[in-house]
Amino acid sequence: MILHAQDTIAALATPTGFGARAVVRISGAEAWQVTAAVCGTSAPRQRPPRLFMTATIALPGLRSCLAADVYFWPAPHSYTGQDVVEIHLLSSPPLVEQLVAAVLDAGARAARPGEFTQRAFLAGKLDLTRAEAVPAIVDAADRDELKQALGQLAGGVARPMQVLRDDLLNLLADVEAGLVFADEDITFVDVDEQLKRIGHALARLTLLGRQVDERGLSNRPFRIVLAGRPNAGKSSLFNALVGRDAALVSPQPGTTRDYVVEPIELGSVRVELVDTAGRQQCSTAIETQAVDLAIDQAGRADLVLLCVPAGNVLLASEVELLQQQRPPVLGVATKSDLAAAEAAFLATSAVTGFGLGLLRSVLAERAEGRSEPPLAPSLSRCRHHVEACLAGLRRAHAIVLERLPPELLALELRGALDQLGEMAGAVYTDDLLDRVFSRFCIGK
Ligand code: GDP
Repeated sequence: MILHAQDTIAALATPTGFGARAVVRISGAEAWQVTAAVCGTSAPRQRPPRLFMTATIALPGLRSCLAADVYFWPAPHSYTGQDVVEIHLLSSPPLVEQLVAAVLDAGARAARPGEFTQRAFLAGKLDLTRAEAVPAIVDAADRDELKQALGQLAGGVARPMQVLRDDLLNLLADVEAGLVFADEDITFVDVDEQLKRIGHALARLTLLGRQVDERGLSNRPFRIVLAGRPNAGKSSLFNALVGRDAALVSPQPGTTRDYVVEPIELGSVRVELVDTAGRQQCSTAIETQAVDLAIDQAGRADLVLLCVPAGNVLLASEVELLQQQRPPVLGVATKSDLAAAEAAFLATSAVTGFGLGLLRSVLAERAEGRSEPPLAPSLSRCRHHVEACLAGLRRAHAIVLERLPPELLALELRGALDQLGEMAGAVYTDDLLDRVFSRFCIGK
């Protein structure tokens, strides 16, 4: 369903919860009237030119007025291409809720997921590949993913695609002009020139396809980090999984001073195993540094293996770690040959090899089921259009080589251009927009 793009919409654009700043965004023809109604006498009645001001907002049930920063961007020089207002205030959920209620009472409608970016797309501010980068930026889990998403927002796919579209449009115009003047024996573009220009387009498209493929691949292997108190048996488990003594094992706590990384194969997946220093009270600067590094490594993990020796009571920090959502934490009982493991933990022994087979298959399953990078849906959509466009251009090339009628060439060129048009969103269907924008969160 293409949403009605003329009415005025509003939503909280920042994450909910307590924080320094919340942003309530309003977009549409009535954006200023709605804002003026909410801000009372502290805002000009007339729609101003671009504006920043501090407003005092009276909200029902609040004794004192709420101070808020108000930004106004008049159409068409705004994100959505419409009048846009942002009201910045302290991020306190009850306050924000009341402000949003006041904005809706003043005539705005609650925005649906992705509706601001959808309006930007419909206003021609962003093509579809750029719009798709917006949720990918929000969802990026690491620097690489963020860099890729920012690259796409900056036009990493859109720009080369635009150059290609221009080239093909020019070629199609020449071929069609030849068709119009066919009786007058005027040649707008001869066979050699046609082959050269289709060859260039094929080369550009192949490069674009490669660029899309590279972005789609998460070049980072699945990273499993072993964490736990000193002497928990992390390095022994690490060596048992790696199949050789890569990490230093010692009865002396605190032997692993920084971290060791080894690639290992688990079934069909290649993962990276990281052994870290134990979480402990540190007495020396080196130990403190090692634990800082371990925490940093654990933060960059796709999965943390929390190693706790079987039969040992969990430390408060271990209980806390087990509750962590991102990255997920799997509890592993080490040294299970010495004591019974807790039921919730996966029992292992690096000495007897007990439980290692099961641990490997659990890890392989987690690595295989790794969530796809946030740009993936956009890139598989692009890849589909690149493939179809390549096939069309190859047929166009064959048509010219075989001296087939130029009408057929024009048909293939138009087909190839349609594919690029769909990729950019110049040609779109309601279904396509629904698919793209339903992945957004509200307020974006
Ligand atoms: P880390 O500090 O967590 O890396 O722990 P280590 O791997 O260095 O092991 C600490 C001590 O526990 C060493 O003396 C190991 O030999 C011993 N250890 C490790 N794993 C096992 C195990 O599965 N069974 C037994 N019995 N001892 C183990």
